[in-house]
Amino acid sequence: MKRRHFIKSASLLGMALSTFPHSIWATNSISCELLMGKGSPSFYGNGYKLLQEAHESFLKMTADALKAGIHIKVVSSYRDFEHQKRIWNRKYNLLTSRGMAGPEAIKSIIEYSTIPGTSRHHWGTDLDIIDGNAVQPTGDLLLEEHFEGQGAFHKLKQWMNANANRFGFFLVYTNDPSRKGFKYEPWHYSYKPLSKTYLESYRELDLYEVLKNEHLLGAEFLTPELLSSYKKEHVLDINPELLR
Ligand SMILES: [Zn+2]
Repeated sequence: MKRRHFIKSASLLGMALSTFPHSIWATNSISCELLMGKGSPSFYGNGYKLLQEAHESFLKMTADALKAGIHIKVVSSYRDFEHQKRIWNRKYNLLTSRGMAGPEAIKSIIEYSTIPGTSRHHWGTDLDIIDGNAVQPTGDLLLEEHFEGQGAFHKLKQWMNANANRFGFFLVYTNDPSRKGFKYEPWHYSYKPLSKTYLESYRELDLYEVLKNEHLLGAEFLTPELLSSYKKEHVLDINPELLR
């Protein structure tokens, strides 16, 4: 190739890369849109949304649990980017209106809620579940106390501990005290055969780059440093079973 042509091609490639920084993926990677809850994959489920393979395995698991008198009921499954953005902005507004400074508000929100675009609920592989056959507690259903001790969903949790992995489902945010990031969530399971692939692609995302134009409340505090430690702790410091 002549030098002049090379320079021209190289600069065109550079332009393409800078215009579409996240659209160029190695084969079998998941697109940035799908990773961030902005795609439109086909979903399956009655009253919830899972990718097909996860749904099929979920149905087998629920049928098996039913034999033990447990009705695995989905409280939350797929959430798109805009849904997560509404949650984020509502919480940020609430905390800062009470006088909390932006960085403190963000620290508080990310104990349990994700920054939009970073939720595993964007993938169609993850679920929050309760036992529909148990006497339902009043108030918030997704509290640790309901899944432990004599809690209403204790039986469900015991059953999931013994059986979920057989169906490909794994707890994401375990109660390992050395784990950083999100707090213990005994209700949140992930279908590993699919979510492992999503996570592998997610590792490659530059969170600062993909979030900087999303106009999230508190965006000025979502610095490259904060997002880099968030990725390390909130995205990747999870049940090690989901990483291998
Ligand atoms: Zn969840």
